[in-house]
Amino acid sequence: MTNNAITIQAFAKINLSLDVKGVLDNGYHIVEMVMQQISLHDNVTLTRSSGDGSLEISLTSTREDLPVDSSNLAYKAAALMAEKFPEIRGTLNIHIDKHIPVAAGMAGGSSNCAAVIHGINQLWNLNLTVAQMNELGAMLGSDVPFCIMGQAAASDNLRDNFAKDEMACHCALATGTGTDLIPLPGLKAYIALSKPSIAVSTAEVYKGIDNEIISIHPDNQALIEGLRNENMEDVHSNMINVLENYTLKVYPSVMYAKDMISTLYSNGPVLMSGSGPTVFAVCSTKEEADGICHAMLPVNKESFSVYTTR
Ligand code: ATP
Repeated sequence: MTNNAITIQAFAKINLSLDVKGVLDNGYHIVEMVMQQISLHDNVTLTRSSGDGSLEISLTSTREDLPVDSSNLAYKAAALMAEKFPEIRGTLNIHIDKHIPVAAGMAGGSSNCAAVIHGINQLWNLNLTVAQMNELGAMLGSDVPFCIMGQAAASDNLRDNFAKDEMACHCALATGTGTDLIPLPGLKAYIALSKPSIAVSTAEVYKGIDNEIISIHPDNQALIEGLRNENMEDVHSNMINVLENYTLKVYPSVMYAKDMISTLYSNGPVLMSGSGPTVFAVCSTKEEADGICHAMLPVNKESFSVYTTR
């Protein structure tokens, strides 16, 4: 990190639970979900140089299929910050070293967006709190505030600055449209992730779920108590994602990945993250997670052995 450049680790997330509570008139869904940050991350580097006039933004990425124009969430974050803070001028280059699978249900784009908000806060000495950044992040996407909180707790170049910020955390309960967040003690686990090579649209899944009959819901209060008391039985038995009722039915490769991991592994929950298609297993040892990852790689080349951040 220099005065003119900073690299932020932009972490992915998984959902320990996901429940849909209702739909608003505008089509937005009311959710209740527990989100957990994991070690898999992109590195987002921001480099500024001074100048007058409006902020000139450029974007580069290691993944050729990602947009580098104003449709990229990282670009949108910089544009929003420049609109809100007139002192943000000159030029800004954003480089995304991408490792998180795209359109996977792991908030990759939202995390890049959060990293740019954090990076600008540092490079222009705005001294914003996590809660203040969350308000800006919520304008760009419902997963962005959680990513801001997680990066404040775990990113190397941010952690010390936010040590006393009560919203910096690795795990949280999200309610409303996903942007009302309460920090929680995190789950300490190794995670095997496997993403079938399809892209699943979050919007399609939320639309589709309205027509499904959902018989089993997570008891999020019991899950939260389990996290607080480190009672893994309560945590594991409430790890339920109601969006599986749509995605597993419509996308056979997601069902196949879940069934295959469940056959290989019976010591912990196997669940879809977000709207999918990524499926993960919660393991108590690195060896278990490595073993599942190794077995899944011939089926889904985007399979990873990671751990929850803490
Ligand atoms: P979420 O879990 O928040 O729903 P996701 O993991 O399912 O997100 P993303 O990886 O964020 O999905 O990508 C969703 C879409 O956003 C893709 O079609 C992608 O082209 C677009 N996108 C825009 N900016 C980015 C970015 N910086 N990184 C990844 N995808 C981006």
